[in-house]
Amino acid sequence: MQIMKSDKPALLGGTPIFDETIPITKPTIPPLSPLVKSYKKVLQTGLLTNGSHVRSFELAAQQYLGVKHVIALNSCTTGLMLLIKTLGLRGKVIVPSFSFRATGHAVVWSGCEPVFVDCDKATFNIDPDAVERAVSSETSCIIGVHVFGNPANVKRLEQITKKKKIRLFFDAAHGFGSIAQGHKIGKFGDAEVFSLSPTKLLTAGEGGLVATNDAELAEQIRTGRNYGNSGNYEHDFVGLSARMSEFNALLGVESLKILEFNIENRNRLATLYRKRLSSLPGITFQSIASGDRSTYKDLSIVIDPEQFGLSRNLLNRALTAERIETRNYFDPPIHRQKVYKDLRECREPLLPNTTWLSTRIVSLPLYSHLMADVVEKICEAVNRIHRFHREISVIGKPDEGLSV
Ligand SMILES: *Cc1c(COP(=O)(O)O)cnc(C)c1O
Repeated sequence: MQIMKSDKPALLGGTPIFDETIPITKPTIPPLSPLVKSYKKVLQTGLLTNGSHVRSFELAAQQYLGVKHVIALNSCTTGLMLLIKTLGLRGKVIVPSFSFRATGHAVVWSGCEPVFVDCDKATFNIDPDAVERAVSSETSCIIGVHVFGNPANVKRLEQITKKKKIRLFFDAAHGFGSIAQGHKIGKFGDAEVFSLSPTKLLTAGEGGLVATNDAELAEQIRTGRNYGNSGNYEHDFVGLSARMSEFNALLGVESLKILEFNIENRNRLATLYRKRLSSLPGITFQSIASGDRSTYKDLSIVIDPEQFGLSRNLLNRALTAERIETRNYFDPPIHRQKVYKDLRECREPLLPNTTWLSTRIVSLPLYSHLMADVVEKICEAVNRIHRFHREISVIGKPDEGLSV
């Protein structure tokens, strides 16, 4: 389709760029026939959960990540909960507020108190200086997050936790396949926990993986996923029901085979987004340290309303009119969500960078089998919305205006 430069944005009455809505994300399903064959076999044997396919998946993930132990679970959230519980952690756990709510939920469910700290405006990741300021005698653990697959500053966080003799985990939900300083994410801190839910690059339908080089911790997580029963029906601690089923493991094994291809494709598409949008005023991207690799679980741009001429909220509305689905990950950030507002540690902190970022962020469609020509058209939509920013800003509601 030829796009005329004079074309009006759909929000001003022009024809939408797309005939059908482009979703923000979609899981990439591996080839069906090997899956269907194995599903049938599993049903015939009757061994439906935590069997040989779960073990094969764990071993394949272990090999890919280059870690000593991987334990498959039913989610990333239960993985974080089990880590806190098995290590008997108490008191305060430092977490970034600019993350998905599950990072906070896991801490609260485990009986600890989350202390939310600020992020870095450029990398979107937890700010090590803010972490250092937040550590107190009551801190038992820090949970870092590799936001959108961009590796957190693992080196600084390891230095801080070593010096203070506290634990370090990573909510690596977005990070399966990310690379920091030449090493795959998975080996940093005491343990890292991946999510396999359908919005993640490596999916098993649902599921989580704990990766660690600590044999004793690995054994405890294995026990913990099975109610805390270590085999003799004696319970060492109160565990969870957090096993992975054989069906999920089979999907995980097949998804792992196409993962590298998917990561490379997302990196190509992210580069294309950068090329087509970075010439516009007021649009910036997440910065990835040179030598690191992001999985681009999400592609998020930051809108400076004064320079771009439109607020983030008006851009969302204009893109929706073009039939382009957007999200604002993560707005509101965790500490500003209703259920967290009453927590003692959440009332005061202002977390200026988190507020700044969450009010300016727009996540654009990106998934592993998205075609480059669709990205081209999405970028053309953003370009034409910008060309007409004056006309669009007039129709904005007060809360969509320049002041965010
Ligand atoms: C998806 C996600 C989770 C939750 O993963 P589940 O497997 O659904 O428990 C946790 N943290 C982050 C950052 C996520 O994006």
